[in-house]
Amino acid sequence: MNVVQSIADVRRIRRESGGSWGLVPTMGFLHAGHVSLVERARRENDFVGVSIFVNPTQFGPTEDLAAYPRDLARDLQLLREAGADLVWTPPVEEVYPAGFQTYVTVEEVTKPLEGAARPTHFRGVATVVAKLFNVFQPDRAYFGQKDAQQAVVIRQMARDLNFPLEVVICPIVREADGLALSSRNVYLTPEQRTAAPVLNRALRAARTAWEAGERDGEHLRQIMRAVLDAEPLARPDYVSAADPVTLQELGDAGRGVLLSMAVRVGRARLIDNVLLVNG
Ligand code: AMP
Repeated sequence: MNVVQSIADVRRIRRESGGSWGLVPTMGFLHAGHVSLVERARRENDFVGVSIFVNPTQFGPTEDLAAYPRDLARDLQLLREAGADLVWTPPVEEVYPAGFQTYVTVEEVTKPLEGAARPTHFRGVATVVAKLFNVFQPDRAYFGQKDAQQAVVIRQMARDLNFPLEVVICPIVREADGLALSSRNVYLTPEQRTAAPVLNRALRAARTAWEAGERDGEHLRQIMRAVLDAEPLARPDYVSAADPVTLQELGDAGRGVLLSMAVRVGRARLIDNVLLVNG
C-alpha cells in the first residue's frame, strides 16, 4: 500500500498502473462504515485509492474542525487490512494553496436539510470532491448513504460537470443497537451514547407506518418528532420526509420518501436517514 502526500505522486501512481480505479474519499478516523466502502471498491476495481483529508472548507466557523478526531496510524492499518492500494493524506496547503479561489456550487439540492443548517457545507464538499475526482481520475467513486444529501449533491455535480465516472452509494453500517457508525460518535458520553439510538428508533417508527400505508408526509414527520421528544438528551435540528431526488418536503409520500434528521446529543450533531421506495 502506497501512502503519499503530494498530488504529483497520486497522479504518477495512477498513470503507471494499468486497470480500473475505485476512489473512497474520507476524513479519516475510520470505522466499519468506511471499511465497507473500501471493500466494495476492492471487489469492483483493479485498484483502490483512499483519501484521508479533514476538509476545512466544509466546516462552518463554529463547527468542530479543530476538534475533529484523527488517528492516522490506526487508519492506515485498517486500510492495509481492507486491501487499499493508495492512500492520499495531503496537507491542507496541497489541496488549498495560497491564492486558491475556485469553488463548486451545486444549486437547488444543497438548499434544504443539511444545507439550511450548514450554509457553506456543500460548497466545501463539492469543491473537494471535484478536486479528488480530478486528482485520482477514478472509474468509480464510493460514498455512504449515511450522508444522504451528500450522495444527491455528488451525483448531481458528477452529472452536471461531466465527470467520466460512476458514483456508487453504499448502505449505512450500524451498531447492533441501530446507531449509525460515525467518526463523531466518539464525542458521546456513555449516557449520551445510550440515548443516541433514538434517531434510528424514530426512523423505524416512521418506516413501519409507511409500510403499513401511511402516505402523509406531515404525519411521518410527526411520528419521528414524537419518538425524539421522548428522549430528553436529544435536541432535534430538523426532521424531514422529503422527495428522494429534489429533497423538497413532501405532503404526499406515495412515490417514495427520504426520511432524515439531524439531532444534537451533547456536543455531537448526529444525522441518520432511511430511504423508502415503492416496489
Ligand atoms: P466521512 O469520513 O465522515 O467524510 O465519511 C466518508 C464516507 O464514508 C462518506 O461517503 C460517508 O457517507 C461514508 N460513511 C460514513 N459513515 C458511514 C456508515 N455508517 N455507513 C456507510 N458509510 C458511511
